[in-house]
Amino acid sequence: MKTSIATVSISGDLREKLAAIAAAGFDGIEIFEQDFIAFDGTPRDVGAMVRDHGLTIDLFQPFRDFEGLPEPQRSRAFDRAERKFDLMQELGTEMMLVCSSVHPQALGGIDRMAADYRELGERAEKRGLRVGFEALAWGHHVNDHRDAWEVVRRADHPNTGLILDSFHTLARRIDPDTIRQIPADRIFFVQLADAPQIEMDLFYWSRHFRNMPGEGDLDVTGFMRAVAATGYDGPLSLEIFNDQFRGGSPRAIAVDGHRSLIYLMDQVRRAEPEVRIEVPDMPPRIRSDGVEFVEFAASHTEAEALGRMLRTMGFTRAGQHIAKDVTLWRQGGINVVVNTEPEGFAHSAYLMHGLSICDIGLRVEDAAATVARARALGADTFNQPKGPEELDIPAIRGVGGGVMHFIDLKGELARVWEIEFRDAGEDDGVRDAGLTRIDHVAQTMNYEEMLTWTLFYTAIFAVEKAPMVDVVDPGGLVRSRAIESADGALRLTLNGAETHRTLAGRFVAESFGSSVQHLAFQTADIFATARALTENGFAPLELPGNYFDDVQARFGLAPEMTARLRAANILYDEDADGAFFQIYSRPFGEGMFFEIVERRGNYGGYGAPNAPYRIAAQKRAMRPNDIPRQ
Ligand code: MG
Ligand code: MG
Repeated sequence: MKTSIATVSISGDLREKLAAIAAAGFDGIEIFEQDFIAFDGTPRDVGAMVRDHGLTIDLFQPFRDFEGLPEPQRSRAFDRAERKFDLMQELGTEMMLVCSSVHPQALGGIDRMAADYRELGERAEKRGLRVGFEALAWGHHVNDHRDAWEVVRRADHPNTGLILDSFHTLARRIDPDTIRQIPADRIFFVQLADAPQIEMDLFYWSRHFRNMPGEGDLDVTGFMRAVAATGYDGPLSLEIFNDQFRGGSPRAIAVDGHRSLIYLMDQVRRAEPEVRIEVPDMPPRIRSDGVEFVEFAASHTEAEALGRMLRTMGFTRAGQHIAKDVTLWRQGGINVVVNTEPEGFAHSAYLMHGLSICDIGLRVEDAAATVARARALGADTFNQPKGPEELDIPAIRGVGGGVMHFIDLKGELARVWEIEFRDAGEDDGVRDAGLTRIDHVAQTMNYEEMLTWTLFYTAIFAVEKAPMVDVVDPGGLVRSRAIESADGALRLTLNGAETHRTLAGRFVAESFGSSVQHLAFQTADIFATARALTENGFAPLELPGNYFDDVQARFGLAPEMTARLRAANILYDEDADGAFFQIYSRPFGEGMFFEIVERRGNYGGYGAPNAPYRIAAQKRAMRPNDIPRQ
């Protein structure tokens, strides 16, 4: 598999782009004319620079408004093409992309266009070059790959072929399986892009909202399956026009792009087993049974305050690490580890972010296989020196610099808590609050990074992305999306902050990019939990009376029910499949908090309609802090 990316897909000047593209592991590039027009050097210099990065120039583009012109424009179009051929030869690239015409004077007629492409093929052949015809979704006469293919077929010249672009096919809802009949040697080049499903003008959608395969909503896998089934084995090239990417970090975007291609081809290989596809061998997407533990990095003072808070929620101190200053708090199937070591990864995370969650441990079927898949997809493994009795728990670096560990039930890993922790030897009348497991881990990041996180999780784990929802914070909008396994065992929510005035944005800024802002614990009986919390002295987030009046009216709740919600500061929501109850803690640290939820029936959401009221109450409660900064 030969990977390529259009230089237009990422930000920076040509030098920065090439460095980022090469570092991410691509084999080649599509060069956009604008990129070297702006470059201070000859086309020959550009070609040499690309090759110095170990990259090939797989395609030159774009050449526009060529076919179907009457004279004298037709002759001029051929002259233009000859000049571009000169340029291509200097650059050292042999293929040119010609996109379907939007010229006001261009005429239709498959045979007329085929004659133009036959002649262009003849001229290209004399120079040892090739031309590929791409149907733009908004082309005047050709806007469907089936028509472009018919033009190419009738042109019947070995140096004229077809260029396919997943966006143009999928945006117009053309069945990608129509590609399966095209002979592989007539497909000269394949461009890949995804996009979020938005109803808008095709041109505008294409030029501003494309994203990496797997990041959007188009069936790029179905498209690529059809291409692969033809036997095509030329470059797979990302051509991504995205405003956000053009302002983003070239390295991060290039890494995402390469990961998206590997992920896509791994999916295609599994779906088309009879087709030979060269892609690194890796285990299938990893099913997780949920969160086994979360680890806080904290100072001693913060650790004590956090411990007091966990006690009010019914956690008990269940263990002390055999060698390290690390405490295990436990309730039901929830393990919260608090690390106050003066060195190691948790300590560096603490220095960077303050009190924060630095590590998430997931339960998986095979921890080693999880790391193998993550590595094949470009994730970094994580290791730090360990003591003689400590286990080697497979781990990787997450996107935001945090660590993810993987626990399976094989061998010693299944007994990690017994092996690494000794009994804390203390229990003091804390009442169990009925919390059973972690319902979801909510991560907050800058909005621009959301796609990176989404791709990272969906590529490695057997999870799907839920549609984006807007969470209304009084200080601005937060975009939120859940990443969940089909059985709901693993639920992560990603919250993209666009401004520092939101609770999420303030958290990102003040914790210097720490990612986990809240943890939600599950209970099977919210009212019993609320009683235990009260007994333990838990301080809930207090909600205004207006909220409960509104909830009663909105859902037609019985007055007794509303009174119970009001008394315990429980938020309520419903969807078609069930009901949802939420209790929030007061904020601590730089705006972290806990949530306790009960899902009744098959409620699938996260209480988004309650967010504006909850956030307003949290902002009121932000000062004073429950846990002072050290
Ligand atoms: Mg294209
Ligand atoms: Mg939540």
